[in-house]
Amino acid sequence: MNERPEIKEHCGCFGIFGHPHAAELAYLGLFALQHRGQEAAGIVTSDGSKTSRHVGLGLVADVFADPKHLQGLKGHIAIGHNRYSTTGSNLITNAQPLAINYHGGPLAIAHNGNLTNSMPLRRRLESDGSIFQSTTDSEVILHLIARSRQIGLVNQIREALTQVEGAFSLVFLARDRIIAARDPHGFRPLCVGMKDKAPVVASESCALDLIEAEYVRDVEPGEILEIDESGLHSSFLPPAARTTQCIFEFIYFSRPDSRIFGEYVDKTRRKIGKALAREKPVPSADLVISVPDSSNSAALGYSQAAGLRFDFGLIRNHYIGRTFIHPTPAMRDFNVRIKFNTVGGVLRGKRVVVVDDSIVRGTTLKKLTRMIRTAGAAEVHVRIASPPVRYPCFYGMDFGRREDLIAAFRTVEEIRDFLDVDSLEYLSVESLLEAAPKGRCGFCTCCFTGDFPTRVSEAYEKFLYESDSRMLELDFMKNTTE
Ligand code: SF4
Repeated sequence: MNERPEIKEHCGCFGIFGHPHAAELAYLGLFALQHRGQEAAGIVTSDGSKTSRHVGLGLVADVFADPKHLQGLKGHIAIGHNRYSTTGSNLITNAQPLAINYHGGPLAIAHNGNLTNSMPLRRRLESDGSIFQSTTDSEVILHLIARSRQIGLVNQIREALTQVEGAFSLVFLARDRIIAARDPHGFRPLCVGMKDKAPVVASESCALDLIEAEYVRDVEPGEILEIDESGLHSSFLPPAARTTQCIFEFIYFSRPDSRIFGEYVDKTRRKIGKALAREKPVPSADLVISVPDSSNSAALGYSQAAGLRFDFGLIRNHYIGRTFIHPTPAMRDFNVRIKFNTVGGVLRGKRVVVVDDSIVRGTTLKKLTRMIRTAGAAEVHVRIASPPVRYPCFYGMDFGRREDLIAAFRTVEEIRDFLDVDSLEYLSVESLLEAAPKGRCGFCTCCFTGDFPTRVSEAYEKFLYESDSRMLELDFMKNTTE
């Protein structure tokens, strides 16, 4: 195998069964989920006998820019996928939904999450003769299904999913049904809705809102939900020792207008902001600003709890996308300025609380705080609406290499010094969990604590506990699979 195995990051999944405009609704659903992945998009449909597929690199609007692509997707059943990946090649062969024809018929898969044992499984499958077409971990699931000796697709999927570890929210399409599934830990969100009596599944409820579908419930951790002509049928994978939904979905990744893990993201972010104000106040401050857009709700919560004015001190340019490149070192200096500008009239002479959702590398925030000072702020106090990110995530969030995480090997005071701000404080893990919704399911906090809820493969462990770079680690995995 020549391709470097990829670490897949966040993605968006969508599925709809039994609607005459299935492809169009999937297309709209993917628009709502665009923030979960901008590198590739695709839709697979079925009319009950024949399946059709179109995938491409780029944004949903680019992939389906030619109307004939959507018109060619016939049928009343559809699934769709937005892909996000910053590591490895952005290959068309990795664009999802992946589709195969196996002894059970056509089968397509859309996957959000990251499997932590995909490399040993892939090595085993390849040594048994499997030929992989992509470098995604998702393809392992298709091979395991195709090799299952179980009778019936749901049983084959169940057998495959009991062999994989890590994070998966999945939507499958077969000729006459869709099947949604969530890993027993429940890392990534997936919800169920109803559109004109047609069941819908989506990574976030904002996709249901866009197509005017009614939110019904979450797909439960460990649930396999089969949707066909006879209705919705649930069965379950063996339970995990504990459920660990990704709390970072609330902190940063999901849209504030979405409902995930049974709760509104905006509401939770405001509670997190309030908790931060109570735990880490700035008594001398004049006003609170956010680093838009992901910190807006937390900053509003902070200002309400602190009794401080909220204002717009930073403005974000929404038209940059992910395609901005830095052709010369001189242009690299403008990479933050091209995304953000300060509002001088708001900041001049003020003692400012800057609320940000998290710090990963710290380089963007350092440039932002310098810009805020240059705009005339008298004092800059940074408050972070999450604990320090000290460990990489193996379940689908791209934090890069551990040595890139500014909090991995530095104290809060050293980070404050690096940022060159008057004060810096983070929310504690305890207060974050206190602000998170209370339900039957718990949350993963292991990028803060290192308390990983699943076994990770030896390559990941080496990556985790040694200071080797991520690329070296990927080279290690590459060497073992060639
Ligand atoms: S490690 Fe962090 S980002 Fe990854 S699943 Fe856990 S809480 Fe989410």
